[in-house]
Amino acid sequence: MPKKPKPIPCILIVKDAFFLSPHMVRVVLTSPELESRPTGCEGANCKIFIPKEKQSPDELIDQITNGPRPTIRTYTVRNFRKDVLELDIDFVVHSDGGPASDFAVNAKPGDFLGFRGPSEVKIKDYYADWYLLAADMSALPVVAATLEKLPRNAKGMAVIEVQSEEDVQNIDSPIGVEMNWLIHSEPHTSSRAQETMIRAKNFPKGIIQTCIAGESGVIKSLRKFFKEETQIPNEDIYISGYWKIGLIEDEHQAQKRLER
Ligand SMILES: Cc1cc2nc3c(=O)[nH]c(=O)nc-3n(C[C@H](O)[C@H](O)[C@H](O)COP(=O)(O)OP(=O)(O)OC[C@H]3O[C@@H](n4cnc5c(N)ncnc54)[C@H](O)[C@@H]3O)c2cc1C
Repeated sequence: MPKKPKPIPCILIVKDAFFLSPHMVRVVLTSPELESRPTGCEGANCKIFIPKEKQSPDELIDQITNGPRPTIRTYTVRNFRKDVLELDIDFVVHSDGGPASDFAVNAKPGDFLGFRGPSEVKIKDYYADWYLLAADMSALPVVAATLEKLPRNAKGMAVIEVQSEEDVQNIDSPIGVEMNWLIHSEPHTSSRAQETMIRAKNFPKGIIQTCIAGESGVIKSLRKFFKEETQIPNEDIYISGYWKIGLIEDEHQAQKRLER
């Protein structure tokens, strides 16, 4: 099947930016261009293009179109309110000073970034008897959006690792999904707590769908577990490394391409 053309990049303006919790900043973005984006895209990923200092919106669009390649990062649409043309992206605030994390921490109304997306949502149909969701803070937006979209009678388990008690969020999840919050205060050391909890669970019989993402080392080990120790078919598994300890995003994406 031919690949869908990529959505045309546009400029989004910061309408608001605030700390949701100690390690998460929500940036509320707006633009008339959002009129053409589909409703229901919460949980889909998008590309953001970070402007250089003193760069104008027109210069950024020109750079995105004609090069040289600007700073690009991958994020998740957390909320989209098409009626008021607002789109939220939740950024993990991490201590390494990445350009995207820095942009979010310093964002104020009137700032702008380049935007391309959204892509397709990760899970298009919900048909499972039981759902397994797992995330660290970088994947909290995709897992939270998925929990909100699940049928209200869905059953399952969510395992979400955050940096502190104060980073725990209120999510409108189905009552039949058991919510487990784990605290891992040092994200630069690999945590095995999510895997331990998932392995300890006796998966029920029937169709299982997953939505799992986070640090690549953790994901690699979980992917091996699903492949070698469960019968869940590939098409029912969404599992993805969202970042890797010690690598900037471009290096991480290059490594993922080599491993494919
Ligand atoms: C499909 C997809 C969706 C994503 N959605 C989101 C999202 O909604 N929200 C979100 O916050 N992230 C999300 N991410 C992860 C995000 O793209 C990476 O964390 C990215 O590296 C952040 O860019 P940066 O410029 O802040 O840091 P970079 O310049 O890429 O990295 C600088 C340093 O920071 C470290 N680092 C990067 N991310 C983290 C982290 N989360 N915790 C601790 N250290 C880190 C790197 O290892 C590196 O040492 C997503 C990734 C993918 C692939």
